[in-house]
Amino acid sequence: MRPEILFSLFQDASTLSGVGQRTASALEKRTGRRLLDMCWLLPQGLIDRGHRPPVGMLRPGDIATLKLQISGHSPPGRRPRPYVVHCFDKTGEIDLVFFHMKPRYLLEQLPKGETRFVSGRVDFYRNRAQMHHPAYIVKPEALPQLPLLEAVYPSALGVGPRVLRKAIVSALKQVPELPEWLDEDRLRSHRWLDWRGALLRAHAPQNLAELEPDAPARKRLAYDELLANQLALAVLRAHHRKRTGRALTGGAELKERTIKSLPWNLTSAQQRVLREIEADMESPYPMLRLLQGDVGSGKTIVAFLSMLGAVGAGAQAAFMAPTELLARQHYAALEPLCEHLGLQMDLLVGQGKSAGRSKVLASLESGDTRILVGTHALFQEQVKFADLAMIVIDEQHRFGVHQKLQLSEKAKVEVDTLVMTATPIPRTLTMTVYGYMEVSRLDESPPGRMPVVTGVLPFSRLEDLANRLREAIAGGARAFWVCPLITEVEDGEDGEPRRKKSAAVERHEWLRERFGDRVGLVHGRMKSQDKDSVMSAFARGDLDILVATTVIEVGIDVPEASVMVVEEAEMFGLAQLHQLRGRVGRGTVESSCMLLYRPPLSDMAVRRLRLMRETEDGFRIAEEDLRLRGAGELLGTRQSGLPEFRVAHPYSHASLLEEARVNAEEILKENPNLEGERGEALRVLLYLFERDEAVGYFRSG
Ligand code: ADP
Ligand code: MG
Repeated sequence: MRPEILFSLFQDASTLSGVGQRTASALEKRTGRRLLDMCWLLPQGLIDRGHRPPVGMLRPGDIATLKLQISGHSPPGRRPRPYVVHCFDKTGEIDLVFFHMKPRYLLEQLPKGETRFVSGRVDFYRNRAQMHHPAYIVKPEALPQLPLLEAVYPSALGVGPRVLRKAIVSALKQVPELPEWLDEDRLRSHRWLDWRGALLRAHAPQNLAELEPDAPARKRLAYDELLANQLALAVLRAHHRKRTGRALTGGAELKERTIKSLPWNLTSAQQRVLREIEADMESPYPMLRLLQGDVGSGKTIVAFLSMLGAVGAGAQAAFMAPTELLARQHYAALEPLCEHLGLQMDLLVGQGKSAGRSKVLASLESGDTRILVGTHALFQEQVKFADLAMIVIDEQHRFGVHQKLQLSEKAKVEVDTLVMTATPIPRTLTMTVYGYMEVSRLDESPPGRMPVVTGVLPFSRLEDLANRLREAIAGGARAFWVCPLITEVEDGEDGEPRRKKSAAVERHEWLRERFGDRVGLVHGRMKSQDKDSVMSAFARGDLDILVATTVIEVGIDVPEASVMVVEEAEMFGLAQLHQLRGRVGRGTVESSCMLLYRPPLSDMAVRRLRLMRETEDGFRIAEEDLRLRGAGELLGTRQSGLPEFRVAHPYSHASLLEEARVNAEEILKENPNLEGERGEALRVLLYLFERDEAVGYFRSG
């Protein structure tokens, strides 16, 4: 249970004075609506209220604090005009401009003939200096109350900057002192403040350098977050290692025979990874290993050979794919290899009670089935294995981390688990996300892959593109055409101009008008049989163009496809674009990938699309993407179940991450159940960063 000391931080923002339901719900979308969430929203800019130029020296855009004398008021009367207060100093004149303000209030605040300090942004209208709605109006004797430096927060949808700042300031007043969870040496060597001190300081930067990720206050907060993350992972890892698994030996001969029957040699990366997996499987501990390999790096054969390790030991193995289509594809690719070895392989997808299905279930329970390929249907209650010793999960970043753990918990026996992902994840992220697993990397592609030529085009070139495509198809090419949506919607909310977004259904129509009926369509709302039959038609060559939503991102293998068009490429994550591009370039002809965008592009979008054109190295793309954007956005973390960081950034704080990892191991070694004062403090840390689940692995203190 969450310790009492943290209760105030988990209160709803609307409990703060001056924060209403409306602000709270707006905050919910931006950061979360608890006090804690507001504390993690750190300033991104700084206003210097100490900047006090004379009026005569003002430039447009200046944020200035001015000492002014008030010469008169011009109320708008009945005219639709603002209320203007005229002011001056020795060097010039300036107008303070107000809309929708009570005249009485303004007469009280700015009485004629008196002097006031006024702070805000300056602009010019007909060569005359103006200030709209000053942020501060104070009497000369109250000047010390004016903050010299003021933090600027990233704006929140529907919450004005002043309301936001006020809310955060009052949230910070509620922040308790927490027991220190870091050791003294570390605090001293980094010159770090305590947690509360660091938080308050991070919200009250004294200069621009203190807004940077390497400012001490921010580093302390980031370190806390990374430590919580690494501690949670370390305890999972330790928990897993304590369990006993099975030593699986005896697969060597089956592997040999398979390798000999392949028309190519394994790459050295494949060989290295196989040795790593083999060592795990032959050891008496349960394997928990992540295999990272870019699209086309040859993971499937690695999975197969690994499964033979279990089969050779007399046990069964299961291969789980994220979609039915992929399960079928794996089955089709691997079944002949099993046949060659005289082993029975079966396929299990979907539910229902067909005769075929009962036969598979019976065969599985009797042990005749040696390898089962399927979707998550594999983990249904009714599916009983005679002796399951290994599972391969081909996740293609479709499964969340937690779900995966549940799966290995569910398989009551201590099975060896190999998780495969085609999303190249930067090393630092791998540590924060998959830190409880061993990691193998397939960092070499099989020889003979042709590079994919990537082009970036604005929408205005759509007709050109269609013409070029016509030539390519005449030359025998087949093309994927990806749209971000199924049907057209128009957005126009939040005052944005309305615009149409590219949709698969409409593009399919458009292409059929130009190319005739050899254009197919697949999207996520179709029945899987219909999807399969369209995709098979494309694979067979009965269709030239396959219009699709991102359903095809996941592993579909059509070596003859050599053109990939992606509409509104700027809307996709780089990892996703990389996956999509990986669908072509698998055959023997030169392939191309056309990224269509709708101008105008932001700077960030320009850089990201340029990166796609520069490299095909998935790991480099992932690293750069991480550098350019926050880790949170990298993989669309919300969908993928990866943890989101509030303060830490796995790129900027990479060295802190290393330190936290070592630190977490030390802590667990010295104090495996988090006991005593320090242990209690570390539990507070875990709750503070909402790693409640991890606390469950420690004996209650
Ligand atoms: P992915 O890692 O994307 O799952 P696959 O396992 O589907 O990649 O392999 C992509 C293609 O490369 C397949 O057609 C496979 O048969 C082939 N392949 C795998 N390993 C090698 C190799 N060592 N040499 C040549 N081709 C290979
Ligand atoms: Mg694959």
